[in-house]
Amino acid sequence: MSNIISETFGSAVFSDRVMRERLPVDAYEALKKTIQSGRPLDSGVANKVAAAMKEWALEKGATHFTHWFQPLTGITAEKHDSFLNGSDGGEPIMEFNGKELIKGETDGSSFPSGGLRATFEARGYTAWDPTSYAFIKENTLCIPTAFCSYSGDALDTKTPLLRSMEALNRAAVRVLKLFGSDTKGVVSTCGPEQEYFLISRDMYARRKDLIYTGRTLYGAKPPKGQELDDHYYGMIKLKVKAFMRDLDEELWKLGVTVKTEHNEVAPAQHELAPIYSTANIASDHNQLTMELLRKVAHRHGFKALLHEKPFEGINGSGKHDNWSVSTVEGQNLFEPGKTPRENAQFLLLLCAVIKGVNEYQDLLRISVASAGNDHRLGANEAPPAIISMFLGDELTDIIDSIVEGSEYEGKKRSDIEIGVDVLPHFPRDTTDRNRTSPFAFTGNKFEFRSPGSSQSIAIPTTMLNTILADELDRFYDELSGAENFNEALDELIRRTITENRRILFNGDGYSAEWVEEAKRRGLHNLPTTPDALPHLLDPENVALFERQGVFSKTELESRYYIYLENYCKMIRIEALTMIEMAKKDILPAVSTYVRKMSEVVSGARSIADVECGFEVDMIKRLTSLSTEMYHKMQSLEELSENLKDNGQQTANYCRDVIIPAMSALRRVADEIETLVGEKYWPYPTYGRMLFAVE
Ligand code: ADP
Ligand code: MG
Repeated sequence: MSNIISETFGSAVFSDRVMRERLPVDAYEALKKTIQSGRPLDSGVANKVAAAMKEWALEKGATHFTHWFQPLTGITAEKHDSFLNGSDGGEPIMEFNGKELIKGETDGSSFPSGGLRATFEARGYTAWDPTSYAFIKENTLCIPTAFCSYSGDALDTKTPLLRSMEALNRAAVRVLKLFGSDTKGVVSTCGPEQEYFLISRDMYARRKDLIYTGRTLYGAKPPKGQELDDHYYGMIKLKVKAFMRDLDEELWKLGVTVKTEHNEVAPAQHELAPIYSTANIASDHNQLTMELLRKVAHRHGFKALLHEKPFEGINGSGKHDNWSVSTVEGQNLFEPGKTPRENAQFLLLLCAVIKGVNEYQDLLRISVASAGNDHRLGANEAPPAIISMFLGDELTDIIDSIVEGSEYEGKKRSDIEIGVDVLPHFPRDTTDRNRTSPFAFTGNKFEFRSPGSSQSIAIPTTMLNTILADELDRFYDELSGAENFNEALDELIRRTITENRRILFNGDGYSAEWVEEAKRRGLHNLPTTPDALPHLLDPENVALFERQGVFSKTELESRYYIYLENYCKMIRIEALTMIEMAKKDILPAVSTYVRKMSEVVSGARSIADVECGFEVDMIKRLTSLSTEMYHKMQSLEELSENLKDNGQQTANYCRDVIIPAMSALRRVADEIETLVGEKYWPYPTYGRMLFAVE
């Protein structure tokens, strides 16, 4: 039976199967070893791999190759070279060798480095990541690579993710050995759920705010929003369905296991989720998914919006990072066990996560900090900026009874000693009801719900892996030296839960009471990006990353500056866009409309003694509002002149002064929008954008 999935899946990927078919046995084995153990590949093998890759890519119609990397701009970058390397008697010579496969030089000067690269050394280099498969995209062989400066400092999101996976592997394997495991390795796995909006491309092209900033900076509430909840899981519109089908096919070709697609809560909002895979691959695939979302949308006359908050008053878009840890043999370590020993191991891992999230709340917050995501977190639609952890009632009862030594579900005290089979197999859905928690245990994995829709999952996943690795190291130190392993384990679990209990919260994360309660518990509340970012350089955070070999202090500093800079630049662009829209489009539109009204009044009155109530009222209200808007715009313009650099002071100023001035300007403009005749309004309205798709 032929089927589109089996025919197309992975057809554009230089996968394990293709490698096995096309590589000489010795080269294949050597490459496999490199992939599994991270050992460098010798140049002979690299040449063989490159030759096989080239041959395969040329057969598939590729003309170019590129090192595909993930700089800190948040999107992927590529620099294409053709395979052509001269000609011989009119015949093209197609070349691609091991050196070109393994390492590429690139002028990195236009990528953010946060001061890592001195200006005289603008070059960076890209290095092949053999753990992620090469693929063909639009006639180009793409080789997934890490991106570093010449001194070896990471300039991308992939390098730290790989380092964190290595750290976790090392730490977890040691701890599992204590439980008698002989696993060959441990990997982290991710399944990111991706939310996005689809709107008409024509309407998008008429909105400067969407074009310049990805979100609407003005826009009055439409008569209908998401209050009826009639979009969530609703019937997918035909045009959207056709788009999704096309997107699925494109992604399947690249080996991305897209599985579920459905409508989301907001009108015109949708979600797509793949089946989970190894964190590094999941992260690459999510980047490809975002890229193809945009491209395929374009083909279908849509614009895919990946901004965290494209429309005010309507839910924004997030990206749930489902995260787990498993052995390379396939045992999910966050799956409550079937035997007492597995249960004890599960509890220890759970404790490591609880402790890690409690101790490094700020790192999780920082990993999702951006100007765009600040609009979502804490806006009663997404988890609050306060990081807490949800375990569900059942698991919470279990760990509480462990601490108190009390009865759980009628079991005697002695049954609850660690190492005894007390963990019931709870049905997964009982754990997944709380959608307001930023970090929820969902039966056999954790779901980090704070990441924004446009962000790379590599960043939050790097944090989670590093934190877990570090806690496991400390547990190992304690347990490996213990005289009586079971007693030490028991004590460690009890103590860890007791000391870190404050991070656990099963209640309503959207409520005002939680903010108060979290404060009493001493949890961080870092509502905005400028609040969160400085903590990246807190001594205990620097020490953590250095200990685990994930970031050097210099790399952390550079990231701090890059994230700050992104934030300041984004807010500046938003402010300037608002000013331009006000000055060039909105205020002139109001004038035109008022003139029209005035003409009606004077025309009508020249014929008869009429009241012209509507027109006169509009003239009065609109001229008064447009004066107010003009002043607010001038004020924003003056304040924006102080946006000189991109440092912490400026970021704070954006938060405290610019953003409130932008909101004030928007309030007046949105009121004006409700009064001006639609055909005079310079932009498509919220109603049109959100409900126009058939
Ligand atoms: P929902 O949150 O909508 O209930 P699902 O249960 O379908 O979603 O899972 C969401 C995502 O979690 C999917 O991408 C799925 O593959 C992923 N997932 C499931 N198990 C794991 C795991 N062990 N590690 C990482 N991700 C996982
Ligand atoms: Mg989910």
